[in-house]
Amino acid sequence: MTKKTEIDQLKLLAKRFAHAERSNHRDALDAIAAELNFPHWKALTVKASQGWIPSEENLTKVDAFVREYFPSLGGKPQFIEQSMSRPIGEPIKVGKIDGHAYQVFEFSGDIRMEGDGWRILIGEADFSQPVVEIETTHKETSPAKNRGFVDKALEVAETQAVKARAGIASDWPRRSTKPNAKGEVVHPIHGDRAAEWFCLHCDGKMTGAQIAENLWHCPSCGASPLDIFTSPWWLEGSDVQPTAVEYAKDRKRPEPKVEVVDSRPTLRLDEQSISLLLRIALLEDANTPGERLGALLAEINVDDENDAWITFDEDLWPDDKDTGSAIAVADKLGVKLEFVMTCMTFPFTWPGLGHVTTSTREYVEMMLHAYEEHGVVLREGVDE
Ligand SMILES: [Zn+2]
Repeated sequence: MTKKTEIDQLKLLAKRFAHAERSNHRDALDAIAAELNFPHWKALTVKASQGWIPSEENLTKVDAFVREYFPSLGGKPQFIEQSMSRPIGEPIKVGKIDGHAYQVFEFSGDIRMEGDGWRILIGEADFSQPVVEIETTHKETSPAKNRGFVDKALEVAETQAVKARAGIASDWPRRSTKPNAKGEVVHPIHGDRAAEWFCLHCDGKMTGAQIAENLWHCPSCGASPLDIFTSPWWLEGSDVQPTAVEYAKDRKRPEPKVEVVDSRPTLRLDEQSISLLLRIALLEDANTPGERLGALLAEINVDDENDAWITFDEDLWPDDKDTGSAIAVADKLGVKLEFVMTCMTFPFTWPGLGHVTTSTREYVEMMLHAYEEHGVVLREGVDE
């Protein structure tokens, strides 16, 4: 192997790094040189002109470094495929901050870092706002109450987010994240090319550089790349004008939003859940097909004070019918229960048939027979 080849290998790796990092080639060369303990690329080339050759070990080191950002290097699957195929509970990083254990997970470019009773969420877009969630059950004891801890955790999460973003950029064409001389960029998904882009979500208008810089998420509202188009076609014939997206040049990631959340499973005892529970109790009380129809068709009303009344069809639910389960369930739920009988519309003729057997099969058999004998059976799609 000649000297030129090894330096060329480093240059090639720098090119991949620049693509993933959305940086220029020179910065990437400096980053590669820094990995080999040179102050910058120039210093490396000076040393090389004096006969220094990167060793096999040097090349391996740089290759491993670049691979962190460009995971599909050397024929490996793309970043997104690696992300999707990783088992859901498998962290990409584990560690401890001030004695508190954490795990970092990545899914489809988004980062979730979590410890006991806290988590940090960072979206794939460069300027997405990190969210710090503290479980209400841990709100007095969580280390995430401490800003110093949160800052350290954010630094860890951010390092992983940078790699995830690099991975995404490495999957996309270089022109998707680096405008050409005319300021044009190529949409990473549908491949359109333009210097000006529009957000379907907020009607924002942005330059190719702006949208590329935020990994194709709207810099104004955060909408996904799928909502970004070369023309505001949805505004055709409307008075709304797209508004140019503006922000400071040295824009930084926003401060994290800290929220106390309760992600425990929550049972909301509202009208919907109370009536559902009462109805399954009625189904348990029902013995015959007629009663089961009665349970299904009963009107269950729950008022503001969570008291409930159930209206049955007198043909479907016998007056003296035992409603032990419904009463017991109402009791458990702290609901005062009342029963009302009325005459509703029975779905099939000869309601009495619904009560002569407990078997639905037998009931259907008898009912079909009665209709065939005394009426008519129309089968949709068969009889006209
Ligand atoms: Zn937008």
